[in-house]
Amino acid sequence: METIQKIKKLLLCQMPGSACNLRCEYCYITNQNMWNSEIRKLDHSPLEIAEALSVKRMGGICLINFCGEGETLLSEEALELVYEWAKDGHYIEIVTNGTLKKRFETISKYPMEILSHIAFKFSFHYAELKRLNLLEVFFDNIYLMHEAGCSFTIEMTPYDGIDDCKEEILAVCEEKIGAPCHLTIVRDDTQMGIPVMSDKSLEDYYNFWSDFGSSMFDFKKSIYGIKRKEFCYAGLLSLNINLANGNYSKCYGCAPVGNIFEDMSKPIDSSAIGKCAVAHCYNGHAHLALGLIPNLSTPTYSKICNIRLKDGTDSLSEEFKQIYSQKVSDNNQLLTVKEEKAIYRRAAFEEMRVKGKANLKRLVKKVLGL
Ligand code: SF4
Ligand code: SF4
Repeated sequence: METIQKIKKLLLCQMPGSACNLRCEYCYITNQNMWNSEIRKLDHSPLEIAEALSVKRMGGICLINFCGEGETLLSEEALELVYEWAKDGHYIEIVTNGTLKKRFETISKYPMEILSHIAFKFSFHYAELKRLNLLEVFFDNIYLMHEAGCSFTIEMTPYDGIDDCKEEILAVCEEKIGAPCHLTIVRDDTQMGIPVMSDKSLEDYYNFWSDFGSSMFDFKKSIYGIKRKEFCYAGLLSLNINLANGNYSKCYGCAPVGNIFEDMSKPIDSSAIGKCAVAHCYNGHAHLALGLIPNLSTPTYSKICNIRLKDGTDSLSEEFKQIYSQKVSDNNQLLTVKEEKAIYRRAAFEEMRVKGKANLKRLVKKVLGL
């Protein structure tokens, strides 16, 4: 095993295109009727994107979360991109519905030094897989990737529509992998506070799904709905990148602050966000566990994602366990208290400026009787 390097940044890269071979009931694309069967081509080639996010330019290796608006692996360019990133030394976590057999067969033929840099986040869309008779395909693909040397976790979104299938799902997991899958939390992104999307009370929702004993669910539940008030290093130690046009922002709910294709001879310029812009850190099982808020006590991302399989092996390789056990805040020079305060002051000033502008607009409209 090669010497494990330090992860410098977390990059959340979004593959454009709302095409998918499934139609999950709770999917935001289904809910907003945004389906588009066309597989969108990237404006920049995978090679150009890999260059824009090279290890050299990023100041070290990164953990890249690679997720599509629809199914990530539908486009062939997605595979090329993963290959280029891994070849350069980055570690990639691919979010996929796990059904595209051909894609996994292609990946399984990659050399070991590439495979060992790939982890999958297999989204377990139980009702859809069952409806389309794809359960076998899903688990076959998982084992194909595991045997090839990739890491993985399996994550299911528990929602009210599958309450009646809970025991059945646990039995399928037991039969196929010898353990329950992990659980995330179903959320309603259309509401300001991003609440849990369930008719049950929060307590009942959490209790109902606690039978899975998921460390991911337990941690998510412990931070869900809590507005983060600590200084957050998103923006400096992480970036959200839209691969369609290269625009990047500091985190969720933030406007773009730059473009990865601009001035590629220089490092990407972005400062820490400081004050979180959203109601709560709904993906904190990754962001917080990987250290975007230094000194916040969390389990490691490795503990959150790993699954002990029925053959006694783990779903994460030793290499990925080490990658997922790091905190980016331990691997970078952090800001001084004075610098953090200056960022807070600038953010507060900007907030006042935006609010003042909106109030003035309202006043003018009122005076003019509009
Ligand atoms: S697999 Fe993902 S993108 Fe496709 S329908 Fe389900 S939730 Fe939506
Ligand atoms: S607390 Fe979470 S959501 Fe908020 S800025 Fe930090 S990483 Fe992003």
